[in-house]
Amino acid sequence: MNTSDITTIAPTRVVVLGGGYAGAMAANRLRRKPDVDVTVVNPQPFFVHRIRLHQFVARTGDPQVGFDAVLGDGIDVVVDTAVRIEAAARRVHLASGKHLDYDHLIYAIGSRNRLPEIPGAADHALSASDWAAAQRLRERLDTLDSGAPVVVVGGGLTGVELAGEFADRGLAVTLVGGGVLAPSVGERGRRATLRQLARLGVDVLAEARVTRVQATQVTVEMDGHERVLPSAATVFATGFVAPELAADSGLTTDGIGRLRTDENLNSVDDERIVGAGDAVAVAGIPLRMSCQAAQPLGVQAAEAVLARIAGDSPKPVDQGFVAQCTSIGRHAATLQFTRRDDSPARAVVTGRLAALAKETVCRGIVWNIRREAARPGTFSWPRNREATAEREAVLQ
Ligand SMILES: Cc1cc2nc3c(=O)[nH]c(=O)nc-3n(C[C@H](O)[C@H](O)[C@H](O)COP(=O)(O)OP(=O)(O)OC[C@H]3O[C@@H](n4cnc5c(N)ncnc54)[C@H](O)[C@@H]3O)c2cc1C
Repeated sequence: MNTSDITTIAPTRVVVLGGGYAGAMAANRLRRKPDVDVTVVNPQPFFVHRIRLHQFVARTGDPQVGFDAVLGDGIDVVVDTAVRIEAAARRVHLASGKHLDYDHLIYAIGSRNRLPEIPGAADHALSASDWAAAQRLRERLDTLDSGAPVVVVGGGLTGVELAGEFADRGLAVTLVGGGVLAPSVGERGRRATLRQLARLGVDVLAEARVTRVQATQVTVEMDGHERVLPSAATVFATGFVAPELAADSGLTTDGIGRLRTDENLNSVDDERIVGAGDAVAVAGIPLRMSCQAAQPLGVQAAEAVLARIAGDSPKPVDQGFVAQCTSIGRHAATLQFTRRDDSPARAVVTGRLAALAKETVCRGIVWNIRREAARPGTFSWPRNREATAEREAVLQ
């Protein structure tokens, strides 16, 4: 054959922004098609196993996993931060001044702490919500003696995990709930969580609200009175927001900065941009920001891109939940089973058995990503077929 008869088809370039749970899963799933060039952009040169960040700050666990252990062969990693997406030019600008051109983009840059507007909070609040924040918090905790007072603000699952981990380390922890403690679990799960926190000596002020944060103290309001709590470190766990990248790039976002997508994970502005994980708000599907949702969303984002490359229509998101597992120190946890829509079911496991389950889940997450790296296409996840069918019926 004459070499001039050979037409070279350039591989499709897919850039994945964010190498967390959603991004790593997406990158690995894309390798189902060998003619796709996959590049992951991530600020850290390693995978951050974010659900171990409370352990990182308390020095009871290591969240760093080498990208070579979780990403499949042939995936390029660019250690950098995306600062702007130029959708019309299909180009991502990076903090280093370089840029990457893409045919398809997966937007999976996760989330970080949502800080409420409380006087002093912006100056004194610490958090464990992302890698950079967790490092600052760890440095502060390292300066504290055993028994030093620490205030955790936020009674959701992350606040509970932080409070338990700090108490296990010997700090005198007050958990300021701001309402109902662990509102997403059922009554049995909540009682068990309170019992375990009490065993660790955590002072739970479930309904107290923080009104002011200062360098060494926190003012709270409870039962109509003000109370001042000493605090050598004030740690906020008051929910997550998405980074500004989508909004800064002129893409449509929701009230907390998440990229708005349709039910197929396509950005509502540009079908070459597909979102996954905490950083997206999927039309009509309320999904708790969680590792549990991020991994399947990553896989579904990759499948949406592969469908487009093949000229097919992507399938709508189908996502179910199975449990909420909250560690409370190293020796206890609350494992609240859920219905597929994430509402609490009756079954709850507590204590050591639940702690064992939580550790198994943490290990299993990395194992799942590695397995998808070794054999793209193997990861499966719980669905919520009923809700998906209902949504499809409405859309038809
Ligand atoms: C202490 C703690 C405990 C938790 N425990 C649980 C739990 O038990 N179960 C659970 O389901 N969830 C838990 N979560 C929530 C869970 O960690 C998140 O929901 C999950 O990490 C979301 O996955 P993701 O892939 O969307 O984002 P991430 O895992 O945050 O990954 C996003 C990646 O994008 C990178 N990135 C950010 N900005 C840019 C940019 N501009 N350019 C390129 N890359 C960028 C980040 O550095 C990061 O590596 C916990 C969170 C915390 C903080």
